[in-house]
Amino acid sequence: MPNEEDRSYMHASAAARRGPECKTLTAILPAELDEDATAKPLNAAFSCLDAIERLRLLRDRVHGTFVFTTSFGLEDQVLTHIIAETGIGARFATLDTGRLFPQTYDLWAQTEARYGIRVTPFYPQAGAVENLVAQHGIDGFYRSKQARLDCCAVRKVAPLGRALAGASVWITGLRADQSAIRGSVPFVAPDAARGLLKANPLLDWTRERAAAFAAEHDVPINPLHAQGFLSIGCAPCTRAVQPGEPERAGRWWWEQESAKECGLHLTPDGRLVRAGA
Ligand code: SF4
Repeated sequence: MPNEEDRSYMHASAAARRGPECKTLTAILPAELDEDATAKPLNAAFSCLDAIERLRLLRDRVHGTFVFTTSFGLEDQVLTHIIAETGIGARFATLDTGRLFPQTYDLWAQTEARYGIRVTPFYPQAGAVENLVAQHGIDGFYRSKQARLDCCAVRKVAPLGRALAGASVWITGLRADQSAIRGSVPFVAPDAARGLLKANPLLDWTRERAAAFAAEHDVPINPLHAQGFLSIGCAPCTRAVQPGEPERAGRWWWEQESAKECGLHLTPDGRLVRAGA
């Protein structure tokens, strides 16, 4: 768990950035928001709050179950640390596709021990995986985009639906500068298809900031990051990137940039979830 030094660091950082304008923004928010309310005021308020304050604001204004989905990447580990600090009672969930790196499973166990939490796994349905592999082969995702999308749908998207069932807020570690597509994502957006608010409290963080935070607070991170695996997903679909390559260039590297999402951050019909959508 974060110690007193951690807490003073985060609170001091937030206080230093909070000005009169921010107080006004948070003051005009309705006393309680739900998934039907516009996310615009939350977006405005988030812009002048630190990550820990963003989460506390959400907890103050939105009732119900908060679910944080982690894949144990750098940002997710930072967010795990911060969520543990806030005590907002978010559930930790992960999608175990069955194709993760051994290092990711090690980090999963290490993270649970460090923060005294349980990260609930959501697995693909056995019958769906059997049909998928029977149709496309064990590594069929290399052969066609449709096969890859089918695999992500079975191993990620369907389990995500179960992980988020009944949630009012979905918290992610998404950062805007991870890719061009993610650059247009807001801090908070209603996900009409799932009937919840999706919140990205680290949206404006850089990778360098996340790495510095992790180092300063002794947050456990995946050793693969040091080997050039900047964005880590399933083992067969992730490779190390070369210096200067985009952060997510190692994910589904055989596909074009526009296709490099797995559906988790898109609506079911393929559109990005945007504020007011
Ligand atoms: S990332 Fe690769 S292995 Fe993982 S679910 Fe998607 S296609 Fe399948």
